[in-house]
Amino acid sequence: SKKQAIDDKEEVETYFNGVGFGRWNRIYSESEDVNTVQLDIRKGHAATIDRVLDWAGRDLADKTWCDLGCGVGSLAIPVAERGAAVSASDISAAMVAETRRRAEDAGVRLADATTADMEAVAGAFDVVSCVDVMIHYPTDKMKDLVDHLAGLSTDRLFVSFAPKTPQYQLLKYIGGLFPGPSKTTRAYLHSEADVVDALDKAGFDVQQQHLTATNFYFSLLLEAKKRPAAAAAAA
Ligand code: SAM
Repeated sequence: SKKQAIDDKEEVETYFNGVGFGRWNRIYSESEDVNTVQLDIRKGHAATIDRVLDWAGRDLADKTWCDLGCGVGSLAIPVAERGAAVSASDISAAMVAETRRRAEDAGVRLADATTADMEAVAGAFDVVSCVDVMIHYPTDKMKDLVDHLAGLSTDRLFVSFAPKTPQYQLLKYIGGLFPGPSKTTRAYLHSEADVVDALDKAGFDVQQQHLTATNFYFSLLLEAKKRPAAAAAAA
């Protein structure tokens, strides 16, 4: 319902500005101040980021790239290093501040880094990415979100999410999935078929996909490409 969705969003924003910021900032770093579960999540997440970079290619000069829910800039910064003009945003002001700090440390320039709910972001970009953010979106909101992401991209889209499979649903039920961090926010799994269908309806075809699964981290990454406009439109 609408009420539930708004509550989720407030909860997510509060969490990632508060206790969640410290926790995820540590996970998304080289700090030794992490437990074995967090270390496992760090490795899984790094594999997802590496995969996006691998698929995106080395030379991103002249590309515009919009990274939604950028976190601490784990993807936005290396993408900018490869020459893309990166617009990074996150609903959490603390995350955006950390992205700015890390970009500066790395001597990397981002086109912009702003605090924004990704549903309020507008524009047209060659590439749009939304990595490990959909876990905060309930099923009924996922389709509108995919539609919005597709509307921002003129060519490519990278999305990752925790896939809804019987095995992961059971793990989530018994509390074995996303232990710790997600106990303070609700975690939503999404059916791959539903996401692919939403992309298809928005005019995007999945080109490749990869599941990264460690003990505590599960993320299915999809790369989708915009279908060329129908020939009839040009006639
Ligand atoms: N994409 C980053 C990465 O892979 O390194 C961060 C992933 S982290 C698990 C999820 C991020 O999504 C958090 O930084 C959170 O603040 C952000 N987020 C959640 N809901 C959002 C929304 N509606 N709009 C923008 N950011 C959002």
